Amino acid sequence: MSDILIKNVTIVTMNERDEVIQGGDILISDGKIAAVGANLRAAAQGSVETVATPGPERHARVIDATGKIALPGFVNAHTHAAMTLFRGYADDLPLAEWLETKIWPAERRLTADDVYWGTLLSCDEMIRSGVTTFADQYFFMDKVAEAVEISGMRGVLSRGLIGVAPGAEGSLKEAITFCRRWNGKAGGRISTMLGPHAIYTCPPVFIEKVVKEAEMLGVGLHIHISETQKEVRECVERYGSSPVKVLKDAGLFELKVLAAHCVHLSREDMEILAQFGVGVAHNPTSNLKLASGIAPVPEMLKMGITVGIGTDGAASNNNLDMVEEMRLCALIHKVTSLDPTVLPARTALRMATTFGARAVGLGKMIGSIEPGKLADIILVDAHRPHMVPAHDVVSHLVYAAHSDDISTVIINGQVVMEEGRILTIDEERVFEEVQTRARRLAGKR
Ligand SMILES: [Zn+2]
Repeated sequence: MSDILIKNVTIVTMNERDEVIQGGDILISDGKIAAVGANLRAAAQGSVETVATPGPERHARVIDATGKIALPGFVNAHTHAAMTLFRGYADDLPLAEWLETKIWPAERRLTADDVYWGTLLSCDEMIRSGVTTFADQYFFMDKVAEAVEISGMRGVLSRGLIGVAPGAEGSLKEAITFCRRWNGKAGGRISTMLGPHAIYTCPPVFIEKVVKEAEMLGVGLHIHISETQKEVRECVERYGSSPVKVLKDAGLFELKVLAAHCVHLSREDMEILAQFGVGVAHNPTSNLKLASGIAPVPEMLKMGITVGIGTDGAASNNNLDMVEEMRLCALIHKVTSLDPTVLPARTALRMATTFGARAVGLGKMIGSIEPGKLADIILVDAHRPHMVPAHDVVSHLVYAAHSDDISTVIINGQVVMEEGRILTIDEERVFEEVQTRARRLAGKR
């Protein structure tokens, strides 16, 4: 892998000092960020330059990013990537009816190859909206991993486990095999978790078993928590307390946990999440579309809980656009609290990058542009009418930008999209495959 030198770019570092560097350079070497600063270049030789770096002289590919903004790639902290196959298939239904009458029957028809093509489509879509890492929970995870490998993305992958299903034991075994096979693979871009779906599909005894296995594997857990009032009410009826409390008693939070939704939480629930360092994935569009509610994000942030942003699956969103998701997150909490200061642009951008990275367990490796971090970097074109004048780039990224403004995406030091052209995925083939498969899954010929 050759080095890459990004030149003359506005760098939104997302480091602890919230530093924004004007006209800076970023040097990428061996998939990592080697240096960030001004004038990193030395003698120019066409498009290949000799770069002055500590140690031996090296050659680098140069990207002139004049007029662009560099920021850490977005982390989509919760999705079901292959559900792009069901985009627009079932809308405007309550969650339980949506799952039971539409999504679960269609999912029973899924094949491994369907999941491969559906995931590849979502990788294409996510890269185009600046996502470099996504946390996924689904089935046929070997195929999801293959799609991650090919697309060049970073994935935190877990096989969804339904404890009440007849094949639950077999699924858990399959999930364990998946973790052993794929953890750390694809040049380190894949990490794995175990994925007990939720308390309403996984009784506490099953959760306990999954936690024990995760501990032995040394992996974290990805779960849905308190998505709807119905989930909380039924959990209290069945087990005597809230999902958070029941899961805590089952030992779930002893390990690293990524918890999707967390919409209906009591003060005590939030204290537990804070105490155990649980990472939360906030999915504002999905929560609005399924009328689940609005998560108490400002309160969670105030209590020191790490909250990232997720799109959830394309069947409940219906796109995987993180720019849109980030803006909705910044807006929605203002109106529910009637306080325009409650979640500023900087916090929303942090949730989509640094906090997301931390929530999915990769906080030390990605989420900011700093030497030593992995090179997951996106370039945003600021030479557009809605990005002028440049009063405040962070404000523009959250309140004005479109995902179409993202021109170049680098993941693990590899350019996967260049000036709007995806380099790793044959888009036409993917569109065709998904179209044909989606018709079959919907029961049409
Ligand atoms: Zn979900």
